[in-house]
Amino acid sequence: MTQAASLLKLQDLDLEILRSKKRLQELPEKGEILAVRAKIRDVTELHRKADSLVHKLTSDLKAHQDEITMLTEKIAVEQAKVAATTDHRAAVSITREMDGLRRRQDKLEMESLQLMERIDKATAQIAKIDEALTQLAEKDATLVKRYKQVGGQLQTDIAGLEAERTEVAASLIVETLTRYEQSRENKGGVGVGKLEGDQCSACRMTLPVERVLELDAGPDIGVCPQCRRLIVVRTESSE
Ligand SMILES: [Zn+2]
Repeated sequence: MTQAASLLKLQDLDLEILRSKKRLQELPEKGEILAVRAKIRDVTELHRKADSLVHKLTSDLKAHQDEITMLTEKIAVEQAKVAATTDHRAAVSITREMDGLRRRQDKLEMESLQLMERIDKATAQIAKIDEALTQLAEKDATLVKRYKQVGGQLQTDIAGLEAERTEVAASLIVETLTRYEQSRENKGGVGVGKLEGDQCSACRMTLPVERVLELDAGPDIGVCPQCRRLIVVRTESSE
């Protein structure tokens, strides 16, 4: 390979290394993983709220049912009293007392039914939330796996490109390499152009015809009169 061809090869490798490093930093999986995890946090919070609602409703229901049981016993005691008494006025008073207890019991029964309905609703919601969490966890695992695969492959590729670059750079004479590195640093990553017709491929400027003739008459690697980068005139030596 001529120096000129090696120089272009070096440029290709450097651009490829840059692109791969950029891809590694901007892997879409990275952002997607963060988004999924934010969602998992939100849904977990919903789960916590629904759970504590079910706990509260369940303990309300238990209090209602305990009171209903207690009232049933009280009513039975009052009923025994009515049966035992011969005093009409006492019987009327006890019956009135029992009516009050029964009304309270009816109210508690009604509220118990409402509580049960709300518990059913919240429990169904928790089941839905669990399902969503399972799906999110699966999505997270898939993304992490893909991120590791793509990222690992990119890192392997970059290592290979860098090894090849070291070899190609070593084949160039020091002055050419230094000039290339300086241009690359100063001019946004592109260190060398190629003469394509009457244009420099690096700065895309059309060169005056006498400059093109000068380059044509000169060595394989010249200098672009417009951007001052190295410019490859030809890759096969004209012997
Ligand atoms: Zn140029």
